[in-house]
Amino acid sequence: MASTLTDRLSRLVKTMRGQARITESNVQDMLREVRMALLEADVALPVVRDFIARVKEKALGQEVVGSLNPGQVLVSVVHKELAATMGAGVADLNLAAQPPAIILMAGLQGAGKTTTTAKLAKHLIERRKKKVLTVSADVYRPAAIEQLKTVTRQAGAEWFPSAPDQKPHDIALAALDHARRHFFDVLLVDTAGRLAIDEALMAEIRDLHATLNPIETLFVVDAMQGQDAVNTAKAFKEALPLTGIVLTKLDGDSRGGAALSVRQITGAPIKFAGVSEKIDGLEVFDADRHAGRVLG
Ligand code: GDP
Repeated sequence: MASTLTDRLSRLVKTMRGQARITESNVQDMLREVRMALLEADVALPVVRDFIARVKEKALGQEVVGSLNPGQVLVSVVHKELAATMGAGVADLNLAAQPPAIILMAGLQGAGKTTTTAKLAKHLIERRKKKVLTVSADVYRPAAIEQLKTVTRQAGAEWFPSAPDQKPHDIALAALDHARRHFFDVLLVDTAGRLAIDEALMAEIRDLHATLNPIETLFVVDAMQGQDAVNTAKAFKEALPLTGIVLTKLDGDSRGGAALSVRQITGAPIKFAGVSEKIDGLEVFDADRHAGRVLG
């Protein structure tokens, strides 16, 4: 197992005992270790560069007080900066719309959209006492529509039927009409994903967004995606005004560096974390705890 950043830095600082401040001359070696730790956690390279530059500015001239050594001070600066970056702007789901509040789910196939749609339905029912309707606009995979039906049932929400011979646009309008007439508080719209970014998919989801004018547009991304998460995030950010991120599969063994990359690239807050395949495996994202995981 790789040693933690704290271990590595304390090895480095043996020679710097008694120093009262972090200086330019000793910060370089330490930042190299921080850079390695972030790359090992699968944070994308350009994001690492940016982050290191910010940390360097904050670290220089920091006083080393009491029993701390410069390495410990730097770890604390890095941890704080990481948590602040990943946690910036976090708020609960915004439902402040004329009901139904519409939540559009976006992301690649396999990211966890359908599972997360049902997890969110359960969250909204239990924590916010909402009446929730789900619908699938994935007309390419009948199995995806059936999957949403099954997991929606597990969540205790209602599911609106759709079929592969319908247009996503028409499905959206029919579901919205049903939600209005039956006084649903929230309409969760699951969408089609592809294995890779594709222009037709982006055009379709842009059209769905224009049709529905959702209050939340959530980008669902697999934490195990590592470096690739950056390209996916860029493409979805260009296509849609994202209002939040759901980082899935954090129960896996990735260090979850994708959180920093995706947060930085999209500018959208990470609202939830998927922590198991089960319907209750959704947590409100905790940036401070996640910073500890990324740093190892
Ligand atoms: P979609 O294609 O984006 O709709 O993805 P799915 O919701 O079908 O999820 C793809 C796979 O990932 C399924 O096997 C899910 O059970 C699994 N999955 C989704 N979220 C999580 C999670 O947070 N943790 C784990 N371990 N598996 C997840």
